[in-house]
Amino acid sequence: MDPQASEQRPTNVNQSQADGSAPAAPPTASLAPGSSMRASGIGLGTAQSPPAHYPQRRSVSVGGVQIGGGAPCVIQSMTTTPTRDWEATLAQVIRLADAGCQLVRLSVPDEASAVGFGEVKKRSPVPLIADVHFHHRMALRSIEEGADKIRLNPGNVTRREHIEEVAKELLAARIPVRVGSNSGSIAPRYKTQYVPDPVGAIVGSAREYVEQLREFGVEDIVVALKSHDPMTTVECYRRFAATEPWPLHIGVTEAGPGITGAARSAVALGLLLSEGIGDTMRVSLANDPVEEVYVCREILASLNLRKTVRVVACPTCARVEFDLLGLVERLEKPLLSLDAPISIAIMGCAVNGPGEARDADIGICAAGGRYMLFKKGEIVRSDLTEADFAGVLSDEIFEMTGKRLAL
Ligand code: SF4
Repeated sequence: MDPQASEQRPTNVNQSQADGSAPAAPPTASLAPGSSMRASGIGLGTAQSPPAHYPQRRSVSVGGVQIGGGAPCVIQSMTTTPTRDWEATLAQVIRLADAGCQLVRLSVPDEASAVGFGEVKKRSPVPLIADVHFHHRMALRSIEEGADKIRLNPGNVTRREHIEEVAKELLAARIPVRVGSNSGSIAPRYKTQYVPDPVGAIVGSAREYVEQLREFGVEDIVVALKSHDPMTTVECYRRFAATEPWPLHIGVTEAGPGITGAARSAVALGLLLSEGIGDTMRVSLANDPVEEVYVCREILASLNLRKTVRVVACPTCARVEFDLLGLVERLEKPLLSLDAPISIAIMGCAVNGPGEARDADIGICAAGGRYMLFKKGEIVRSDLTEADFAGVLSDEIFEMTGKRLAL
């Protein structure tokens, strides 16, 4: 058991909140201001503090990665390959890790997947979580295969003796469990309540499952309370966080394809993180999971909670003097994977170009037929051609950060 997770209990549970009613709206914590872009110290790599009247969040360790207890929000995602195909799954885990994913979850629906999980685990660069539904034996097998955490679902691992068996092995392996109370997977007895009161049902189902695990001695618990509706999701987490100390995995479940899912997730997760709620996050996109990691990083960076590159690029218009959109498309993914607190401006003409380029750590701008490079507010070159821009940017980023862009 994590020593920090000893006997902390909620300090402000009242009866109505324990029954699932809404607590007072939490005050919104203020965010680190960014004065000028260069001076903003983009991405502090810190956690936003929850409101003072909320219980302190406990901490758990997932293969050495701390979740909760004031640690910065941890990015996670989930593989989409069949886990029994361990080589394809490992390749995806490595791609996710390279993009900045800190924990990866794999489905373990059957014995072949448990074996595959074990093979990936032996070679994975990041801790792995086993996602288990229906068959508690798959949780036991995943623990045998070295899982760093298990995800269980109150809706489909329900029998007391099964929960007890899994709890015993969790304690023996000294690994945490995530209780995933989603709109589609709440405990059976909350299903009637769900229709008029989805928040109460999701929260109540999670609380009940946590208490069942605690009866068997499990204290290293992470909780998720997801709905496909962003504002229902926000209300679930607000209500739970106001009374419970468990670290929170935040996300909007089944958020949809790329643009839809990113926007819905950004709204819900942005609100929660700005209130200090959220210890680990996943954006669930119907897409390549690497995109999920990029969206997580950008949400955290937008809140100044993560060290990452901030790119300012003009949307272009009839005045643009070079193929700016082509350059941005080429640079976008390499820049998204770069952990460095710098700002880069890519600007198309003299209207806003020189101003934005000056305000960034590194700026490129075309204006009046000249192709210029700015560094820390000064023009350092004006003899470039359009073809030089990508290479010059890459060189300057390397000089400033020691990291090469994978162009
Ligand atoms: S910077 Fe110039 S090209 Fe870019 S959107 Fe503004 S006016 Fe148009």
